[in-house]
Amino acid sequence: MQSPPSLYIVPTPIGNLADITQRAIEVLAMVDVVAAEDTRHSSVLLNHLQIKANLLALHDHNEQQRADALIARVQQGQSVALISDAGTPLISDPGYHLVTRCREAGVRVIPLPGACAAITALSASGLPTDRFTFEGFLPAKEKARDDRLTELQDETRTLIFYESPRRLLETVQALARLYGERQIVVARELTKTFESFQSLPAPAMAEWLAADSNRCRGEIVLMIAGAKPDPDAIPSEVLCTLALLQKELPLKRAAALTAEIHGVKKNALYKLGLEQASVYSEGT
Ligand code: SAM
Repeated sequence: MQSPPSLYIVPTPIGNLADITQRAIEVLAMVDVVAAEDTRHSSVLLNHLQIKANLLALHDHNEQQRADALIARVQQGQSVALISDAGTPLISDPGYHLVTRCREAGVRVIPLPGACAAITALSASGLPTDRFTFEGFLPAKEKARDDRLTELQDETRTLIFYESPRRLLETVQALARLYGERQIVVARELTKTFESFQSLPAPAMAEWLAADSNRCRGEIVLMIAGAKPDPDAIPSEVLCTLALLQKELPLKRAAALTAEIHGVKKNALYKLGLEQASVYSEGT
């Protein structure tokens, strides 16, 4: 494979060792250095692929300092591949600083497509896939986790999280409390022998998980159906126009103009303006 010196972002399997592309294998065999999150862990894969690689550790604790040395290698004409323990590097894995620094230094970054637990799980979840948001891991502490979930409560896109088996039950219990009957899908051990999908409303999912601790074991992707859009909700850009016009005009005129600009009903805007005015006057 003939190619200019570059940093290659190389996805590796998330369980089933057959889930690696031909191109990924060729790149790993061709590069001068493979930067890996855990060199011992990655040796297993490289041995399986019969690739003798020059491995170098790049993890959360040394990424900033290792980045410069790797960039220097590429600038001197070498090629480097970045891999993580599983799946796509940078997706809840190290590599962000390295890629950012490469971009700043004008070093070519070549991404390879491949395994990613979030996308693998979503594709078979039965939840809407046209719009979704990947939220990585939730905070480990209860208060911070609940704050994050509350922040995301009105999100209408499908939510995807990575979750630790130790925290899954508590997180689903929190979801039952905060999100009510929203549909939840737990995808476990993707691409492995005990791969499973379970789809239930949040309270039923909490009960189902609590009934058998084996149901929380393994690697987990947690997905939640987005909130149902409120048909009466006024879009934020309309609210912004109304607020701006209200600074200069009486409410009735501001509501009429906003309605004309955005093609919405003026009565709802007028009503909202009156409600806001009464809240402000109560507060004074
Ligand atoms: N970079 C990886 C990717 O592209 O998916 C994710 C790395 S992150 C440190 C590890 C988390 O991904 C696990 O805790 C789990 O939530 C999820 N994960 C990874 N492999 C999985 C699998 N085979 N089945 C279900 N979830 C998995």
